[in-house]
Amino acid sequence: MNHFDPQSIIDQLRGVLPQQTQMIALHEPYFGGNEWLYVKECLDTGWVSSVGKFVSRFEQDLAAFTEIPYAVATVNGTAALHIALLLAGVTANDEVLTPSLTFIATTNAIAYCHAIPHFVESEERTLGVSPSALADYLQEIAEVKNGVCYNRLSQRPIKALLVMHTFGHPVDLDALAELCARYHLVLIEDAAEALGSYYKGKHVGSVGRLATLSFNGNKTITTGGGGAILTCDPKLAPQAKHLTTTAKVPHPWLFTHDEVGYNYRLPNINAALGCAQLEQLPKFLAAKRQVALRYQAAFAASHTVKFIAEPSESKSNYWLNALLLAPEIAQYRDELLRLSNEQGIMTRPIWTLQHKLAMYQSCPRMRMPIAESLEARVLNIPSSPILGFTQA
Ligand SMILES: *Cc1c(COP(=O)(O)O)cnc(C)c1O
Repeated sequence: MNHFDPQSIIDQLRGVLPQQTQMIALHEPYFGGNEWLYVKECLDTGWVSSVGKFVSRFEQDLAAFTEIPYAVATVNGTAALHIALLLAGVTANDEVLTPSLTFIATTNAIAYCHAIPHFVESEERTLGVSPSALADYLQEIAEVKNGVCYNRLSQRPIKALLVMHTFGHPVDLDALAELCARYHLVLIEDAAEALGSYYKGKHVGSVGRLATLSFNGNKTITTGGGGAILTCDPKLAPQAKHLTTTAKVPHPWLFTHDEVGYNYRLPNINAALGCAQLEQLPKFLAAKRQVALRYQAAFAASHTVKFIAEPSESKSNYWLNALLLAPEIAQYRDELLRLSNEQGIMTRPIWTLQHKLAMYQSCPRMRMPIAESLEARVLNIPSSPILGFTQA
């Protein structure tokens, strides 16, 4: 490209953002509701830890908001993923299909089960797992014997497909669910980034047998740290509660535990924060959509930069807004990162592909030219809800 000036992109961003001297964060939390009130109640009553009314209220509120029957709160989103995989029947030496283009938590949770991540290709339209590339690949390497899918090359069972809704944009769930049915795979949704995102009119998390959320400080709503397991299955929900609460058999005083459980429950004080945040979620979603629409308009005429919009069948929460650089300016990515961060506009590249990380280099994987290309060209830009409150 002749005469490409990276500064021009930063100027376009600045046109959308507030004029302020302090750094504009990628995503900062907003506490404008009943946070103080509910947290104070925990302190005043002494119910700060592993039991208390806010935990069950938060679980009920999550179920009501998502219209998914059961929610089990956990200490973080990674712990939720770990338990979801165990409940899906993933055991040592199983393979789990998962995108290479994801945050480390998705992959680590598979490793915690002593299972093997098997990395798959993404698509540009959703930034998530590509159903067409995966269909071709499974045809080549998978076979179903006695209701179990095997990797013909490794001879190991392939148990599940763990998808991730990148930056809140839902993957093509129908196509992927169809593939899972054909190959006897359990579908699990890592919806950590997608609270408030809808696929064909339904909140994400109900197509998969299990789904997970995160309420880390940078997510759409936060509990400080926290997560949840979502499921429509009335049998899995109590199992999720049991496993995340040390597998203790209920009894007024006896300490009986009937399997190796986990201390993954969300403390009441964090749940209190969550209840207050969830009350504001519709307002956050509206503000985030405003910010996204402004970015979209700012880059609509650009030949070098595309704003990544929600897939046509979906409504995204626009958790993190993202730009896609045209291939001919991909070489300027690092320069753009340097300039924008120097000038007080926080930007970040998308994650390093998981199969390039030392501990996951030898995992099985398919060819993934699209994921490789996205890795080099996607940039995240400021996306806090407050950006949508303060401007007209
Ligand atoms: C945030 C996130 C998680 C969970 O993170 P925690 O910090 O453990 O709550 C999992 N997967 C993805 C894709 C995430 O973005």
